Amino acid sequence: MPKIRVCNLYPELLNIYGDRGNTIAVVQRARWHGLEVEVTDVTLGDRVDFRQFDILLIGGGQDREQRLIAEDFARVKGSSLHEAVLDGLVVLAICGGYQLMGRYYQTADGAQLPGLSIFDAWTEAGPTRMVGNVVVETELFGEPRTLVGFENHSGRTFLGPTARPLGRVLKGHGNNGQDGREGVVYRNAIGTYLHGSLLPKNPHLTDWLLQRALDRRYGGEVQLGRLDDTIEERAHAAMVRRLLR
Ligand code: GLN
Repeated sequence: MPKIRVCNLYPELLNIYGDRGNTIAVVQRARWHGLEVEVTDVTLGDRVDFRQFDILLIGGGQDREQRLIAEDFARVKGSSLHEAVLDGLVVLAICGGYQLMGRYYQTADGAQLPGLSIFDAWTEAGPTRMVGNVVVETELFGEPRTLVGFENHSGRTFLGPTARPLGRVLKGHGNNGQDGREGVVYRNAIGTYLHGSLLPKNPHLTDWLLQRALDRRYGGEVQLGRLDDTIEERAHAAMVRRLLR
């Protein structure tokens, strides 16, 4: 049975608005697809080779947690994580986690927390919070598809010239409330502001992550079949309709 190794990064520090639901969704869909799944929690101080994993999930958190993590990235994990992303590791980084995978996050008191510079992006805290439900249109799947989620952040993220956004905001604020962009994609790594939890609300994104992970590990030999997503798709469509009305 093909196996997927999931890394939950800082699960006890970065888990707001139910980001843990992303892990539950990845594990459950992988099992429904007939894959074996193994989940490893990795936290402050742990030194690991991230290339051994297939999917890495990192959630959102507040400045206090982000400060601890920025330090841990700089001292312990940064280079291994960077190498793994270059090697094609599949990553989903939400909000606070997304911010720290860019060049830096500047907090409201002006402190600059260094990021991993995996994404060509930077974030500065602004005077207001951007809160609410979001609909994004993305080209990630070849044809335009929507993603739905929930955002709550004061950080404004700006993308540098080499960064590719995850999508275009149809409803909500996205990266900064100004340029209509949401998230970022670099190799197999996605950064986004969407909580929700994101993956249960967007099964097509969950399967994209799983397929990318399988491609990296099994070189195209293992293809996901289609699950019956009638209920998930109805819930997704209802949300899109309600928000774009
Ligand atoms: N501290 C960040 C912000 O408010 C992250 C918040 C979050 O992860 N929800 O911009």
